[in-house]
Amino acid sequence: MVDFELDEEQKAACKMAHEFALNEMRPIALECDKEGKIPDDLIKKAASAGLTAMGIPDEYGGGGLDQLTAAMVSEEMFWGCAGIATTLGANSLATTPMVIAGTEEQKKEYFPRLCDPDDPKFAGFCLTEPGAGSDAAAINTIIKEDGDHYILNGQKCFITNGGIADFYSVFCTFDKEKRYGGIAAVIVERSYEGVSIGKKEDKMGIRASNTAEVIFDNVKVPKENLFVPMGQGFYNVMVTLDMTRASVAAGAVGIARAAFEEALAYAKERVQFGRPIIAQQAINFMLTDMAMEIEAGRRVYQLAAWKASKGLPCSLESSYAKAFCGDMAMRTTTNAVQIHGGYGYMKEYLVEKLMRDAKIMQIYEGTNQIQRVVIGANLMGVTDAYPWG
Ligand SMILES: Cc1cc2nc3c(=O)[nH]c(=O)nc-3n(C[C@H](O)[C@H](O)[C@H](O)COP(=O)(O)OP(=O)(O)OC[C@H]3O[C@@H](n4cnc5c(N)ncnc54)[C@H](O)[C@@H]3O)c2cc1C
Repeated sequence: MVDFELDEEQKAACKMAHEFALNEMRPIALECDKEGKIPDDLIKKAASAGLTAMGIPDEYGGGGLDQLTAAMVSEEMFWGCAGIATTLGANSLATTPMVIAGTEEQKKEYFPRLCDPDDPKFAGFCLTEPGAGSDAAAINTIIKEDGDHYILNGQKCFITNGGIADFYSVFCTFDKEKRYGGIAAVIVERSYEGVSIGKKEDKMGIRASNTAEVIFDNVKVPKENLFVPMGQGFYNVMVTLDMTRASVAAGAVGIARAAFEEALAYAKERVQFGRPIIAQQAINFMLTDMAMEIEAGRRVYQLAAWKASKGLPCSLESSYAKAFCGDMAMRTTTNAVQIHGGYGYMKEYLVEKLMRDAKIMQIYEGTNQIQRVVIGANLMGVTDAYPWG
C-alpha cells in the first residue's frame, strides 16, 4: 500500500524546521553568505531546536530523527540557507559512520558535544584528500600501530566544518596497497597534538559554511578511538553515503523550491510589453517545468529516505535522488535567474545566491557523474559498490 500522508511527528518536525528557516535563517542568509560565517547565537538556537544533531539518537541528546523525517527537515533548512544548512548537516555526515559502527562509549563521549544548547560543538567527516576525491579508495592518510596507541599522518581537503570542528571521523589506511581492503576509521579530536587546520577555502556558494584542509602530523590517537577496523572502512563510507544522500537531494529540492518561489512572485509582478511576464508562454513554461521537477524530486528523495529509514537497501534510489535533484536544482536556479533578467544577476536578489549555492549539489557527497556510474553499473547487473576501481 502506498501512503503519502505524513504522520503527526513528521508534520511537526517539518513545521518547526520551516519556522526556524523562515524566522532565523532567511533574515541573515545574505549577510552570512557575504561574511562567510554564521553567528554563534544562531547555532545555539539551532542546537536548542535539535537541528545540530538531527540524526543522533535521542538517548545521546540528538534529534533522533529517522532518515525520512531528517530529509524533509533538510529540505526546509536548505530552503532557509544552504550554507547554514550544510554546516548543520555536516554534523550528521560526520556522526553517521559512528552511529553505524561506533561503540557505546564512543557515542556517549562524542555525540552529546554536538547537542549542548549552551555550547554546541561541530564535527567533520574526513574522507577527501588532494589525491583522492571520487576515487576514495586511493586515500593516503596512513595509520600505524605504535604500542598502546596509533600514529596518524596525512592531509584531508575540502572538509566541511574542518576549521571549526571539535572532532573528526577520519578515514585512513593501514595499507595503501590494499586500497579498499586497507581502510579503517578513527575519531580524532582537534585538540590532539599534531592536528592542524590548513587553507580555509574561499567558495562560490554555501559560503556561510566552513570548508578547510585538516592536517595530521604524527598524531597520537588512543586505540579506543578506532571505530571501524581495517578492511571495513570503505563499506562504512558507502553505507553512510547511502543513508545521507537523500538528505543532500532533499537540500537540493529546498534550494530549487526557494528559487521557484522567488521566480514565480517576480514573474507575476514584472510587467513588460504591457503584461506580467508570467503571461509570456516562454516564462510560464519555465515555471511549470520547475513546479513539475520539484515535485518529482521530492518524491524520489522521499523514496530513498523511506527505504533508508526502514533499513532497506537504497543505494540505487539514493543515487537517483542525488543526481536528479542536484541537476534539477542547478536547472531551476539558473532559470530563476533568467526569469529575473538583469536583476537576477545582482547580489541583492536571492536567486543570485541560490544559483551559486545549487552548484555544490552536483559535486559533494559523490559527484553526479559518480551517481550515474552507480546507476549505470546497476543497469549492467553489477551491484557491488565501485565496480570500476
Ligand atoms: C564545498 C565542499 C564541501 C565538501 N565537504 C566534504 C566533507 O565534509 N568531507 C569530505 O570528505 N569531502 C568533502 N568534499 C569533497 C567532495 O566530496 C569531492 O570534491 C567530490 O567527491 C569530488 O572529488 P574531487 O573534487 O577530487 O573531484 P574528482 O574526483 O577529481 O573529479 C573531477 C571530475 O571528474 C569526474 N569523475 C571522476 N571519476 C569519474 C568516473 N569514474 N566516471 C565519471 N566521471 C568521473 C567527477 O565527476 C568530476 O566531474 C567537499 C567538497 C566541496 C567542494
